[in-house]
Amino acid sequence: MDRNFFSNLKCRECGKLYAKKAIHVCDFDFGPLEAVYDYAAIRGVLTRQLIESRPQSMWRYRELLPIDGAPTVGTQVGFTPLVKADRLAKALGLRELYVKNDTVNYPTLSFKDRVVSVALSRALELGFEVVACASTGNLANSVAANAASAGLKSYVLIPADLEQGKVLGSLVYGANVIAIHGAYDQVNRLCSEIAGKYGWGFVNVNLRPYYAEGSKTMGFEIAEQLGWRLPRHTIIPMASGSLLTKIHKAYKEFIDLGLVDKAPFSVHGAQATGCAPITHALKRGTDMVKPVAKPQTIAKSLAIGTPADGYYAIHSMNQTGGTAEDCTDEEIVEGIRLLAECEGIFAETAGGVTVACAKKLVAAGHIPADESAVLCITGNGLKTQEAMLNQCGAPRTINPSLREFEDRIYQPDQSAVAH
Ligand SMILES: *Cc1c(COP(=O)(O)O)cnc(C)c1O
Repeated sequence: MDRNFFSNLKCRECGKLYAKKAIHVCDFDFGPLEAVYDYAAIRGVLTRQLIESRPQSMWRYRELLPIDGAPTVGTQVGFTPLVKADRLAKALGLRELYVKNDTVNYPTLSFKDRVVSVALSRALELGFEVVACASTGNLANSVAANAASAGLKSYVLIPADLEQGKVLGSLVYGANVIAIHGAYDQVNRLCSEIAGKYGWGFVNVNLRPYYAEGSKTMGFEIAEQLGWRLPRHTIIPMASGSLLTKIHKAYKEFIDLGLVDKAPFSVHGAQATGCAPITHALKRGTDMVKPVAKPQTIAKSLAIGTPADGYYAIHSMNQTGGTAEDCTDEEIVEGIRLLAECEGIFAETAGGVTVACAKKLVAAGHIPADESAVLCITGNGLKTQEAMLNQCGAPRTINPSLREFEDRIYQPDQSAVAH
């Protein structure tokens, strides 16, 4: 990159500025730190034409991402398909619906490749040799894979009860995979202690301000792929709540930079009923998020009982006229199947949460039938197969014989047999 527009980190609460180091909380009030940019300078440089001239990856928006030089990790991440979902739209009762399909993100099939690409590119700039994370599964996969390709040593810490696909999807890259007897919050607390003691680059602890900005690219891509406009409604799964706040920020940045026309938009959050601290707080009309001590849901990737960005996610939803929903495990399975049967997209449990909650938001009138909507589908169903085992029937098995095929599988209508 010719010029660097990323200037500082800044406390979200008191506004104190910090140098661009591996720090994530304010000394004074413990507020979270966030990347700040020289928007006036970016406005003079970043145009639709410039972005469109670049390779189709999340790094086409690099002026709005918090690294100093050119990206070095995950340079091919992002620019996943935005699918016009007409059959799902009909099933939900909407006219204009799209699916942002991060089930096929590169290289590890979830939206987490976006955040890891930024965090590890920054980790190399800051000189880290060991990177690590606390993860509900997808982050572990992405850190493990991207660290391997960057030649970095990695430690990924996960709750011990994760799906097999997520565990194997970290081990295969040669990462140090540490399974903790406990819920995600306990894993995360241990990671904070390790980060403080050993000076490793924890992508979602001391590198969190960099990591979190990567999520904005999902919002940038949605706006560009819609033909440089914002959808009226965006439905977003919430774990810590970070992705939702960053899609909100992405839309605001595009409006402020004149890349899209100013228009009303709403961001809505989706959680599983068995771990829905953000949704429940919003429904109670408060921004005080009550922790969930023992999450119980098949949507393990969203099972964060103490969501770090819950407070900010609630404000993003309230400021944009958005709202939040939650859904049961049965509704998650139904949501996965509905997306698969309507659009040919096999999402993980978090995708089922998004579809099921969108259905409720439409039914309740929060998403009117004639307004455009985008569902953020953030992870791949092949990684959470446990959730769908025994839910989709089984193949009918026969011998390789035409007679048997016609006896047991398919009886042609005689008048329709081709000659
Ligand atoms: C991590 C994750 C999310 C959202 O995470 P936030 O912490 O809210 O940013 C959503 N979907 C999937 C599949 C994830 O792995």
